[in-house]
Amino acid sequence: MTTALVLAGHGSHISPQTAGLVWRHVDALRAMGVADEVTAAFWKEAHSFHSVFETLTADDITVVPLFTAQGFFTQLVIPAEMGLTGRLTTRGGKTIRYARTLNEHPYLAQIVSQRVTDALRILGSAPSQTAVAILGHSTKRNPESRQATEAQALQMREAHVAAEVVAAYLDDTPAIETVYEMTSAPTLIAVPYFLAMGSHTTIDVPRELSLEPGQTLAQVNGRTVYYTDPVGTEDALREVILELAREAGAPLHDPHLSAAWDCFPAAGRHDLIATVEAMGTMEFGELLLSPSEVRPLNGTPTQEVMDAAALRALVREHPFRPLATACGLQGDWYVPITQPDEIHAVVETVYPGAVADWAAHQGGTFTAGSLDTTAARQQGMYRELAALTDDQRLSVVKRVCANCVRQPTWFDGSVAADGLPCAEPCNLWMSEALEKTE
Ligand code: SF4
Repeated sequence: MTTALVLAGHGSHISPQTAGLVWRHVDALRAMGVADEVTAAFWKEAHSFHSVFETLTADDITVVPLFTAQGFFTQLVIPAEMGLTGRLTTRGGKTIRYARTLNEHPYLAQIVSQRVTDALRILGSAPSQTAVAILGHSTKRNPESRQATEAQALQMREAHVAAEVVAAYLDDTPAIETVYEMTSAPTLIAVPYFLAMGSHTTIDVPRELSLEPGQTLAQVNGRTVYYTDPVGTEDALREVILELAREAGAPLHDPHLSAAWDCFPAAGRHDLIATVEAMGTMEFGELLLSPSEVRPLNGTPTQEVMDAAALRALVREHPFRPLATACGLQGDWYVPITQPDEIHAVVETVYPGAVADWAAHQGGTFTAGSLDTTAARQQGMYRELAALTDDQRLSVVKRVCANCVRQPTWFDGSVAADGLPCAEPCNLWMSEALEKTE
């Protein structure tokens, strides 16, 4: 039996930090060799929740949702996108385990408590002179989304850590900006109940609190406001992920040191390596693959890259490219290849999921979906995409897909013999298209 571990996060079109936190844990878990394949899946970025299983060959897959709330994404979106029927799904001879969400583990409550304790110490503020605001996302689409934030506020209230404890929300009521009316203590400690330093915690929540971006200590309305880090930034989160996976029954390996490019999703790996070895060199999107190195087709490769984190930082994060397969790959790096498997791992890092689809197309087993099947699966506003006219669909394809190394096979069935097919509209495409329905 072979095993896979999938960390499911939100991702972002604005900030690399949201997915970056998840990839950091993927990198560390790969280095620990806890499963044969370890990867990430996202709502906003690649791999998508819907496509990630196509990249895996393992027969026992465990999905750990990295969300702070049990709600819209963990109860509706992920099960619908992944086709899960419950905690345990069996499909096509595979077992898929769906672990509990992070917020169901006591760890996050410990971190919230630690954030407040640290802030009180830094500020030298007495609890009787302090209010605490736990700030969550929530959504009116799912009443349960607010429960995790409310539970954290209740625990803080019962622990008497401060004179006042309130919960407020980015996308629900009470709104975050109202915390100044809901509390009156001279000092306010604001704890963003989010995992990463992403766009919500660095832009949206500070704006609601009347803080400048990057500001952690300020005077607002004559009160001292201290804005803490979000709750998912500690390395200890990794142990919680493993606990949740084991609790779901994941047959994980004992941690051991693995090589830099081990434990990647394996679908298509054999075909890619065989093709590179047979041809000597091979173009894959904007990459040039050979048995000795992988590098961008264009540019002068001067910078040696030795692991996935360093490569991802170059090709995805600085500058941020929310569409992994967007044209315009930065061109001054190369990865030396010492084992054939590394060719595939490098490509998988640059273009998550593209090898699996390419290999399926080469082998005649690739099947493309359509906008209508994708829209029918949606749990929220993207359902409205089914109403787009043919002309509207074409205009979004021309605008978005023209800047992508994949071809929108889902739209017109086309893909060149050596091209990279695309099985369904990505989240970036859907976000652009949604504007057409407004
Ligand atoms: S929908 Fe278009 S832009 Fe998105 S991945 Fe597919 S081909 Fe690329």
